[in-house]
Amino acid sequence: MKPAPFQYFAPTTIDETLALLAEHGDQAKILAGGQSLVPTMNFRLATPMILIDINRVGELSYIDSRNGNLAIGAMTRQRTLERDGEIARRAPLVAATMPFIAHPQIRNRGTLGGSLAHADPAAELPAVMIALDAKFKLSSQKIERWFDARDFFTGLFSTTLTPNELLSEIVLPPMPPHTGWAFQEMARRHGDFALAGVACIVTLDARGVCNDARIVLLGLSGQPVDARNAAKQLIGVEPSADAIRAASQTIDAEIDPSADIHASAEFRRHLAKTLTQRALQQAVARAKES
Ligand SMILES: Cc1cc2nc3c(=O)[nH]c(=O)nc-3n(C[C@H](O)[C@H](O)[C@H](O)COP(=O)(O)OP(=O)(O)OC[C@H]3O[C@@H](n4cnc5c(N)ncnc54)[C@H](O)[C@@H]3O)c2cc1C
Repeated sequence: MKPAPFQYFAPTTIDETLALLAEHGDQAKILAGGQSLVPTMNFRLATPMILIDINRVGELSYIDSRNGNLAIGAMTRQRTLERDGEIARRAPLVAATMPFIAHPQIRNRGTLGGSLAHADPAAELPAVMIALDAKFKLSSQKIERWFDARDFFTGLFSTTLTPNELLSEIVLPPMPPHTGWAFQEMARRHGDFALAGVACIVTLDARGVCNDARIVLLGLSGQPVDARNAAKQLIGVEPSADAIRAASQTIDAEIDPSADIHASAEFRRHLAKTLTQRALQQAVARAKES
């Protein structure tokens, strides 16, 4: 399969990119790693008239420490996130999740910004970013907007990005002391998109009582599910095995899984609860160690 004809631009700065988006936004697509866009163009599911290739925009590729936060450029490759020492130390949930995404060849090209902008409901990074309370910078020639990750994803493959905006930066706040994390997913083969998955964060106080928890599920419906009620069940209590089991069962009321050729809705519901229980156990154990 070959894509429909398109006009190609390769800007080298953010300013040039934003100028191109201001002029052509409605008819253009950003080309980042191309690992989702190119297949959809080859199948002619996407037929942009114009491609704006941002692979030469060096200023979009960085991992910086800034005011205690970690600022990551949108063009940072997924493989870099997997291998970077600063990410492993300060955002270990991100590093640990990366091997679940596709295969090394795809992660060599695929970018953080591309995965978030694409907003595949089975993608790992959107759920991980919500669990980490990340903030996203959306840039256009006119304004700069910031979104909490949990407000960025609006449905199946859709986000708050407008056609003339670029997702330019992702900011991760520091994890408080005594915070544990875990990622769990089930896929038919390693590297396939997940049938269901979950990212969890648990913070304990000095007595071992949970004072913050986040449970974010993926692969169940159109967008990541931030299961706040289930997470709230843990807050103010010692997260014992029984408390974790009870919180994981509460997930039931917060999800409405869809069925497809890969899994029934009931199987996804079962996975969501089982994976959450496993992830919470791991996150609590890590919080106690940390
Ligand atoms: C065989 C295969 C298996 C895969 N398995 C998984 C998996 O298990 N989990 C997973 O999460 N992903 C998986 N992927 C997708 C992969 O992670 C992609 O890299 C990712 O979804 C898109 O990133 P990209 O940089 O390649 O973006 P592109 O494909 O270049 O772009 C994707 C979309 O985002 C837009 N876009 C890109 N960057 C920006 C930006 N900075 N600002 C605004 N819009 C932007 C593009 O215009 C396009 O619409 C798989 C891909 C393949 C081919």
